Amino acid sequence: MAKKLILIVIDGLTPATFEGAAEDDRMPALKLLAANGTYARGISTFPSLTPVCLSAIATGAHPDVHRIPHLVWYHRGERRIVEYGSSFAAVRAAGTRQALLDAIFNMNEQHLGAEAVTVFEALEDAGFTTAAINFTCYRGRNRHVPAVPAVTRPAYGPKRFFFYNLFESDVTGAPLAVFGRSVGSVDAYAAAVGRWLVTRDGFDFLVHYLPDYDFASHAAGPGASEEALQRSDAAIWALIEAAGGPDEFLERYAVLICADHGQTRIDRTLQLEERFADAGVIVTASNRAGMVYRTDATREDTRELATRLDSEPGAEAVLFLEGDEAVARHAGEELRFAPAESGWGTSGDPALLSQPDALERAWAALRNPNAGELLVSAGDGVEFADLAGRSHLGGGSHGALSAADSEVPLLAVGIDAAPRSITELAPLALEHFGVKPPAYTRALAHAA
Ligand SMILES: [Zn+2]
Repeated sequence: MAKKLILIVIDGLTPATFEGAAEDDRMPALKLLAANGTYARGISTFPSLTPVCLSAIATGAHPDVHRIPHLVWYHRGERRIVEYGSSFAAVRAAGTRQALLDAIFNMNEQHLGAEAVTVFEALEDAGFTTAAINFTCYRGRNRHVPAVPAVTRPAYGPKRFFFYNLFESDVTGAPLAVFGRSVGSVDAYAAAVGRWLVTRDGFDFLVHYLPDYDFASHAAGPGASEEALQRSDAAIWALIEAAGGPDEFLERYAVLICADHGQTRIDRTLQLEERFADAGVIVTASNRAGMVYRTDATREDTRELATRLDSEPGAEAVLFLEGDEAVARHAGEELRFAPAESGWGTSGDPALLSQPDALERAWAALRNPNAGELLVSAGDGVEFADLAGRSHLGGGSHGALSAADSEVPLLAVGIDAAPRSITELAPLALEHFGVKPPAYTRALAHAA
């Protein structure tokens, strides 16, 4: 029988920071796991923003299948902005109640693609018990009523379902964790729930999501948040201790560790909508990715809209579909691309999309029906201000195609595999349990 499996997601952890932690005595859990696993740098999805990335991790798909396009997007059917939480001010600007409903319920119930299969759905359909702690892409078969009396709407998640005290499938005695908090108490909550689950041997597959590191990196800049990473490490160590120590833990569990995306230092902010002020379009921008949606009032064709950013060095790539091809535009130069028999057919300057896995990721982002007609990836050090004009100037951000935003650490412990993309983690977990991954996931050449 396969070992039980824990997937640990440390939000915003860059490969360089992970590699440092792997040799750092102040990070005993990461050091122990790194010493017992196979490590490689892997690639995220695009836009490299948490809701998009966690959906990719849970479903093994890019946004063309899972359909979550961004932190903030325009819902054409409902003619409104969906804002999952770019900043507190952006949430207020979008309407706090609506934003919370979108982030907590609608993302899983309505926005997540019907064709996509979450790892929780696939494993529980095969008779395994799954668990998730604070993981935003949680869609599963089990009905859960909120633990908070003020909220009555149920959510459908894994059997063991813990979500910021709002949903708690079991009484664990874990401390309060506030959704959208301003202090780093969330990893401590995850540690307490994780300890409870390991002590009771309460799952076959657990997703242990640790957001505090990303939160700290946004404020202080990438690599400057050692204290937050020590808290994440402590949350992992709590699992090891609960199992009875390192040997017992490694005996009982296989582990995958990843980040959802990296981070880039920000020294310039750009108000993307100013470039489209008179264009009759809707601009949704946040962190290092932006989208432009056509409306009935849009006169210019999509290519003309794209040329508006030709003189903007803060846009590293402006992407759109034209016929059966995709176009990447920068400073008036273009690269056209489309999937070919083997690999990609391209014409134009390939240097325009030299970022890691850029053709595949840009194509999948554009083929998402919820994405804007234009996708904009921010240049080095640049961030797009959000709905409320907020940014992380002087701190860190992510969302672009660039390597800094897109490279993530991937560590496999007790599993014979070397994943290279966050989309390979769900199929890997399924194969570990002998469950066939969904047909849309790429075949794994290295599958055991
Ligand atoms: Zn972030």
